[in-house]
Amino acid sequence: MTTMLHGRVEMPMHGLGTYKATEGEDVINSVTWALQAGYRMFDTAAIYRNEGGVGEAIRRSDLVRTEVFVTTKLWNSDQGYDRALDALDGSLQILGFDYIDLYLVHWPKPEHMAETWRAMEQALADGLTRAIGVCNFEPHHLDQLMATANTPPSLNQVELHPNLQQHEVRAATLELGGVPQAWSPLKQGRVLDDPVVVAIADRHNRTPAQVVLRWQLQEGVATIPKSITKRRIIENGDVFGFALDDADMEHIRGLDTGDRIGPHPDRIDF
Ligand code: NDP
Repeated sequence: MTTMLHGRVEMPMHGLGTYKATEGEDVINSVTWALQAGYRMFDTAAIYRNEGGVGEAIRRSDLVRTEVFVTTKLWNSDQGYDRALDALDGSLQILGFDYIDLYLVHWPKPEHMAETWRAMEQALADGLTRAIGVCNFEPHHLDQLMATANTPPSLNQVELHPNLQQHEVRAATLELGGVPQAWSPLKQGRVLDDPVVVAIADRHNRTPAQVVLRWQLQEGVATIPKSITKRRIIENGDVFGFALDDADMEHIRGLDTGDRIGPHPDRIDF
């Protein structure tokens, strides 16, 4: 299952997250298992310090670079025009790639937003990345961005799971032609024992994780579950052979308590 980023760049809707997958064999193994399980999209970030392993695992595979989609992110302390372009150069070197598929601003920094985005647009124009986007942008951040942007963000990656469904952020992202993407799609495991999710999983003979990921995909939300465990990587990738019905979707929509595990983007101190 894929989507088009602003009609130009095809992106798989389902990929592997790598936050806390340690650089070296840890992340190399998880990306390798994911490739074997059919994943073609990988989410890393400069701050994860594992871009090298992501690139290495892809090089070790028998796939060519154009068959995989790699996202990485600009860290907060690298915002600003020159710093952002330098940081992108650093990420490319560590990945060992001559382009990234999607480069994201990791968190909104209102004081640097215009200059940072100008650098993102330059990187796009220079072919260093095929698409540009943001993470953790609330609707008012998107408004601020669009006040000076020439190119709207192709994607907004935000915390999103059954307990935090982000309807306003999704609507604001879609209005700009962007794709909403879920980080911590499994709420780091904390939504998998929810009785509603468990009951739906039992009925479909699937696991709670598969139900939650399938719900995101059917909602039009791209998803990047992280695991360093081979059997879970396989499990999380096996979400295309079944479908939730309207009642299942409605029951999961009813779990939106607004509960976050990460910080609110307006209150970050890093
Ligand atoms: P997830 O919701 O993906 O959960 C990952 C955790 O759940 C890990 O502890 C993993 O364990 C466990 N897990 C995975 N699959 C299963 C399963 N089938 N059954 C039970 N437990 C499971 O959380 P993340 O916070 O990692 O988010 C996903 C990705 O989103 C990140 O890895 C990162 O790439 C991105 N992200 C982006 C952010 C941003 O600001 N842009 C912020 C946070 C994350 P184990 O690995 O031990 O198997």
